[in-house]
Amino acid sequence: MAADTPFPTPPERMRLPRPDRPEADVVQALLRQPALRWDAVRQAATPWVQAVREHPAPFWAMESLLKEYPLSRPEGLALMRLAEALLRVPDVETAMALAADQLGRARFDAGGGSAHPLLAGLSARVLELGRRLLPAEGSAPGLLQRLGAQTVVAAAVRALQLLGRQFVLGRHIDEALHEAQAQRAGQPALRFSFDMLGEGARTGRDAERYLAAYHHAIERIAREQPADAAPEQADGISIKLSALHPRYEPAQRQRLFAELLPRLWTLVERAARANMNLTIDAEESERLELSLDLFEALAARVAQDWPQWQGLGLAVQAYQTRSLEVVQEVARLAAAYRLRLMVRLVKGAYWDGEIKRAQELGLAGYPVYTRKQHTDLAYLACARVLLDHAPQVFPQFATHNAGTIAAVLQMARERGAAFEMQRLHGMGEGIYREVLKREPVALRVYAPVGEHRDLLAYLVRRLLENGANSSFVHQLADARVPLDALLVSPFNLQGDPGLPLPAALYGPARPNSAGVDLACLADREPLYTTARDTAVPTVPEADAAAVDAAMQRLHAGFALWDATPVAGRAAALRRAAEALEARRAEFCGLLVREARKVMADAVAEVREAVDFLRYYAAEAEQRFAPLALPGPTGESNELRLRGRGVFVCISPWNFPLAIFTGQVAAALVAGNSVAAKPAEQTPAVAQRMVALLHGCGVPEDALQLLHGPGETVGAALVRDARCAGVAFTGSTEVAKAIQRSLADKDGPIVPLIAETGGINAMLVDSTALPEQVVDAVIQSAFRSAGQRCSALRLLCLHVHIADAVLQMLAGAMQELVVGDPLQWSTDVGPVIDAQAHAALARHVARLDAQARLVARTPLPAGLAGDHLAPVAYEVRDIAEVREEVFGPVLHVVRWGSGELATPEAVIDRVNALGYGLTLGVQTRIDGRALQVAQRARVGNVYVNRNMIGAVVGVQPFGGEGLSGTGPKAGGPHYLLRFASEQTLTINTAAAGGNAALLAGGR
Ligand SMILES: Cc1cc2nc3c(=O)[nH]c(=O)nc-3n(C[C@H](O)[C@H](O)[C@H](O)COP(=O)(O)OP(=O)(O)OC[C@H]3O[C@@H](n4cnc5c(N)ncnc54)[C@H](O)[C@@H]3O)c2cc1C
Repeated sequence: MAADTPFPTPPERMRLPRPDRPEADVVQALLRQPALRWDAVRQAATPWVQAVREHPAPFWAMESLLKEYPLSRPEGLALMRLAEALLRVPDVETAMALAADQLGRARFDAGGGSAHPLLAGLSARVLELGRRLLPAEGSAPGLLQRLGAQTVVAAAVRALQLLGRQFVLGRHIDEALHEAQAQRAGQPALRFSFDMLGEGARTGRDAERYLAAYHHAIERIAREQPADAAPEQADGISIKLSALHPRYEPAQRQRLFAELLPRLWTLVERAARANMNLTIDAEESERLELSLDLFEALAARVAQDWPQWQGLGLAVQAYQTRSLEVVQEVARLAAAYRLRLMVRLVKGAYWDGEIKRAQELGLAGYPVYTRKQHTDLAYLACARVLLDHAPQVFPQFATHNAGTIAAVLQMARERGAAFEMQRLHGMGEGIYREVLKREPVALRVYAPVGEHRDLLAYLVRRLLENGANSSFVHQLADARVPLDALLVSPFNLQGDPGLPLPAALYGPARPNSAGVDLACLADREPLYTTARDTAVPTVPEADAAAVDAAMQRLHAGFALWDATPVAGRAAALRRAAEALEARRAEFCGLLVREARKVMADAVAEVREAVDFLRYYAAEAEQRFAPLALPGPTGESNELRLRGRGVFVCISPWNFPLAIFTGQVAAALVAGNSVAAKPAEQTPAVAQRMVALLHGCGVPEDALQLLHGPGETVGAALVRDARCAGVAFTGSTEVAKAIQRSLADKDGPIVPLIAETGGINAMLVDSTALPEQVVDAVIQSAFRSAGQRCSALRLLCLHVHIADAVLQMLAGAMQELVVGDPLQWSTDVGPVIDAQAHAALARHVARLDAQARLVARTPLPAGLAGDHLAPVAYEVRDIAEVREEVFGPVLHVVRWGSGELATPEAVIDRVNALGYGLTLGVQTRIDGRALQVAQRARVGNVYVNRNMIGAVVGVQPFGGEGLSGTGPKAGGPHYLLRFASEQTLTINTAAAGGNAALLAGGR
């Protein structure tokens, strides 16, 4: 078949079970596998372990380092964080600040008990010296101190380079091949699988660079191989699909079949021609189904074009709860395409990330096991399946765990199957030295290749892996862990309960809202089907008479609702939360259709509304209980909270469900009756929510929807004499108008809770990781088409990294998909309406004339509707950004010289803009992040992440200055503002004397 024959995209299907099955059920199935003779396993592994312990690794080896400075202590963390960042910092000043910051928070005095007391003491003294020599952040060091500090930094850089070198076979493939050859001098049978290091590609150019590096590596490896060697006898290559395409995500399936597969095929063909092993590494769980689809497409083409080749391989992670089904599926593919496939079985390298993602998305379960023993058990079950499918499958067992190795060897021997073991370069050397002394096992080393800068992420992964208490390598290095514990049978499950489910993240008082894994076809399809079928109903506008009638009704209804015990009001909110979750698809459909949201945003918005309902219910029950206050004897004193009257809630179109529901729920649960005015653009979502609340027990006399223009309906509500409070979210301008209108009214003084916009900045220094910065910028500036109050408007980049970051940002912006929100592949939908589009277009035209264009996302040809291409401009000065631009438009400035020489100067200028909503900070200097947060007059500060998506009760949201009055929505002080307070003092001695005092009470 011609090399450029396209790969058709097959229809998507689920070949595996759901990723969130209950762990207990999956483990029960694993336990049904035939038990191993674990006594024999322990017997085999014990001498290996003893020998390794008797000959501890050299001082500079990772195991020794982590033993000396474990990650559970500040010293270990400091070392890891230095390792992650120091090598990439381009300027000496910042490198010194980083080293001072990290070394300053740790104590490197030799704690005793080291296997290398002399060296440990020496290193501790050097590090301690560094601590004292390095200047504190913000202080001006003297000359001597500077010289000392530079020396310490240079020494630290060198030490980290040496540390990194332990895990990297060479800086480039030639060096690595040379080193491999040297290692083979002592162990001729040793095989290598080379891996080109680097972060995942963020741009098309990155992907091309990685592709070229893989091609070059394959060429070079092939040249060194004997012509007649089978793939299992020769060196091979490992590749990461995330390096070969900047959008290796299930949502971009069509593009991946069209763009990634042909690229990948050129590598596969080259490896097939050289008859070498090419293995596709395993990555995150949401890519698992997609990776199998891509793998099958490759297998089918290999079967046609290279049927004799036996080197195509895939890595499988045992820690995934679907791992058993994955190995079964790979075995099925081998049979179906009559291929011999190579399968590397690993446990998995992204465990912490998988757990975090599931918690953040509020998934029903975890895609990975939450107990280490379960992972070990699954590994053995998968190993058995692979061995049972030999020779069609060639199993490659990658592990450093002596128990796992011994168990695998036992199973393999019983079956007489061919296989190999694998270890990472720089790890497991001791154990395999011992294994090989006793058994002639084939061994392959996974050998990363790359420059210092490229190895950082890899190095940190390995540090985390080795530093984890549960890790075998960690326990092996710790002589206090007895052999029995080290070699415990995974079949002998002990009491560790695993992790609580994502639903239980906030404890028993408040369940976390349930989310959706859009990568799971079974969950995604119904949402899109519903959205496609959703029609947006027309909502009648209220006229002046309707406003008056509603206010009259709410005024009359207030007393009864306020008299309802708080538990009753809270119960109505909780019922509403349940109902909303049950009707998620319907509400998501409306949000997509009416508010033009992409599905991920719609799901997140429904979750936020649910969280508001539950959070305020719990808060009200806690805070509205009468509070007994101390006082003199013979008297009781209590503070009580109750509703103020009719609250007017005015919400915006950008969160027509979440903000609408949050305001209304807070006002209601505090005992107020509520006149709810949604944004003109999004009344249907609001109407549906009001109906839902009525259906859940909120009386119609306590909640009325009033749709209509702000200038008429909104203004009339605010002006109305019966209005006892206003909660408003929207523009600063309208908030001011409301404030004036309230001030002009006769009668009671009416409180206003206003949450308005911001000119939100992100400060990036030269310790930041460009890939992380670009991810955060793309999400913060362009997600939801930039139509979030929290969105990033002003990116402040340090001069030393600005060019590199902007280049990467420009590349990443080329990869964004602007389009129809009904398509899963769409990243950025249209803006809310034609009027907004016109205003944004005018601003962009101004920038075109006055600023330097950094990048603009291409708009697909023929795209109809109010789409605005995400765009970034570099401006000369912060002051040029004067107003909030509510769309996907990013302004960039450089700092690090002149008036913006320091982070403090940047923050002062940002403060001077007068807004104060959100701020992003990207730095590895912890002290700097804290100082910046302290100096910034903003409500929400986010360090080393994106700056959107505040979670109820976790990041209470709201700003200061022009950005709002506070208190923060979704925070502990919010409800109090909706209430009036009353103290109740009762003279308990009035009726005849102080009985309590006389009875001996206090
Ligand atoms: C040659 C080779 C290639 C590799 N390629 C890949 C790859 O392509 N993709 C990839 O993801 N990884 C890959 N790895 C990394 C591999 O996953 C790790 O080395 C592995 O985690 C260490 O396993 P172990 O058996 O040596 O150690 P052990 O200490 O026995 O096991 C550690 C494993 O247990 C898991 N674990 C820890 N705590 C828990 C818990 N509470 N609940 C459940 N599980 C837990 C860890 O996540 C880890 O997977 C590769 C490793 C090798 C040796």
